[in-house]
Amino acid sequence: MPLKWELRQEDSELFAAELEDFVPQRVFDMHAHLWRKANFTDPVPEYVEIGPSEVTLEVYREHINWILPGREVHGLYFPFPETIPNATEPHNAWVSQQLVKDPFGRGQFYVRPTDDHDFVRQEMKRLGLRGFKPFNCFADRPDRENAEIPEYMPEWIPKLAHEEGWSITLHIQRARSLADPSNLHWIRSYCKTYPNMTLILDHCARGFNPYHLIAGLEHLGNPGNLYVDTSVICNPLAIWACIKYLGTDRVLYGSDFYCSHLRGTNLPVADSFIWLDESMDIWKFLAYPRQNAGPTLVGLENLLALKAVFHMLKLTDNEIEAFFWSNAARVLNLT
Ligand SMILES: [Zn+2]
Repeated sequence: MPLKWELRQEDSELFAAELEDFVPQRVFDMHAHLWRKANFTDPVPEYVEIGPSEVTLEVYREHINWILPGREVHGLYFPFPETIPNATEPHNAWVSQQLVKDPFGRGQFYVRPTDDHDFVRQEMKRLGLRGFKPFNCFADRPDRENAEIPEYMPEWIPKLAHEEGWSITLHIQRARSLADPSNLHWIRSYCKTYPNMTLILDHCARGFNPYHLIAGLEHLGNPGNLYVDTSVICNPLAIWACIKYLGTDRVLYGSDFYCSHLRGTNLPVADSFIWLDESMDIWKFLAYPRQNAGPTLVGLENLLALKAVFHMLKLTDNEIEAFFWSNAARVLNLT
């Protein structure tokens, strides 16, 4: 089945049955991509191709309602990365234009390792962006999935974040993710050297394989300026591990819109993990299909995992509210 961008009745019914009583009325989304198709050079990612051509703040809010129906949602916005290193300027300008429409919104800058530091500082202030979103597409090697952190986030970026009190949302690479010695070294080193920087490791420190995540968390030492967002994580163990090792006040809700709107899930497999989407020929094997339906939206799978973990850990209403709002408000100095 080809990928489709749509909300189905069974998605809404799943939310009503399982999540309506769990998700608070006000949500801060720490991980929201805003894009404009015309700003991409080829190749346009497949999901960008089938989605809305211009993701304005209004379009984002209309669509985030698929997984957070009726909620007041504000966010930390940043561009969607290109698969090849192209010009960042139009993507950053687009986010900046949308950001001004959200009084509680914050934005991060799509940064290249080779950017001029002084220009970036001025440009971010001009655009109203108060953080960085580095991407591995700028790592200067063919196997970018093996890039070490300084290859896509050289030291001037955390240094600048430290000087200005800005945040960084980092998607770490390499097969063992947080358990990788190089990743652990650079995260610890940057956090220690630049304590005024807020470092947010997205997707539970890319904890799609929770066994790697736990191995890494055991050696991380819990720096005080380190956070995770839980975006698109569908395995409950990764969420549980982040809360256990970092504490409830360092774990933040994020959707990863548009990945939240993929239909499928992801799960650990041995010492790796896999993403499953609806285009794959496996859903016919689903046991007890919901009204003959297949997978739901990844963003709903993520909320189901969060609810299960919070329930098992007996998180209080205040802790759940903090996960969805107050932790973000504190980290991003929302007033
Ligand atoms: Zn993302």
